[in-house]
Amino acid sequence: MSGYGASGGGWRIGLDLGSTAAKAVLVDPGGSVLDRALDVSRGEPAAVAEKLVNELSLRNGVEKARVVATGYGRSMAGSASRTVTEISCHALGVHSLHPDAKTVLDIGGQDAKAIRLGSGGSIEDFAMNDRCAAGTGSFLEMAARRFSLGVGELSTFCGNTSAHESDGNRIEISSTCVVFAESEMVGLAARGAPPAAVLRAVHRAIAKRVLLLLRQVNAVEPLYFTGGVAANTALAAAIAEEAGVRVSIADHPQFAGALGAALLA
Ligand code: ADP
Repeated sequence: MSGYGASGGGWRIGLDLGSTAAKAVLVDPGGSVLDRALDVSRGEPAAVAEKLVNELSLRNGVEKARVVATGYGRSMAGSASRTVTEISCHALGVHSLHPDAKTVLDIGGQDAKAIRLGSGGSIEDFAMNDRCAAGTGSFLEMAARRFSLGVGELSTFCGNTSAHESDGNRIEISSTCVVFAESEMVGLAARGAPPAAVLRAVHRAIAKRVLLLLRQVNAVEPLYFTGGVAANTALAAAIAEEAGVRVSIADHPQFAGALGAALLA
């Protein structure tokens, strides 16, 4: 279902076809967000894209919407009239929600990016890690699985990463590779380390990787955290502590890229 709406900018759907999750945002002709939809990517970006566009259109009685796609699978979205890079979409999405934003930190399932914004939401600099799983959501997924938790339970289980331990009695995970980090976790648990302490160490290890990205762009406040992983407030706290900056969670953080795509339509 694609094409132009009848009035003004028309109805617009932004699709963010990520490696882990596909997100869609419906924007009405007045520019307001009307609805959102999400599904797992399942390695079938074309099918999931069509499903989300149909779902939003049917649910809201929209006959025609202009579709713009971003994300890893964007070229597979058959209904999209245009594709745009993730950096542009995240920058615009966050700027529209939080016009004061000067830095965007996006952490998804398999990548992480930092974007420094200039006036009017322009992109001044960006850095991306899509090579190494450490510093992305997949590291947290592995760690959660190890302790039979869901990713949504990690924050509550860990509590605040800094409040529980002084520097002297903290457990550290030193491996910068997820595979070695997993064996380190297993070893720590076998030696009796409490699961929450091991998981707090995992969060700090990820925060250290994220710090490298933030440094690359000279991140400044206000910094907004986006992506599915932004729901993890323990990680936001660990990043804030590591980087020495206040980390604010963007509104509906997982949909920021899809919102940017919709606004570019
Ligand atoms: P991508 O665009 O790369 O597919 P997303 O921005 O959609 O990634 O985020 C997906 C990631 O968010 C996954 O690693 C998933 O485990 C994580 N995630 C999703 N929901 C939550 C939650 N409630 N708490 C913590 N992490 C979450």
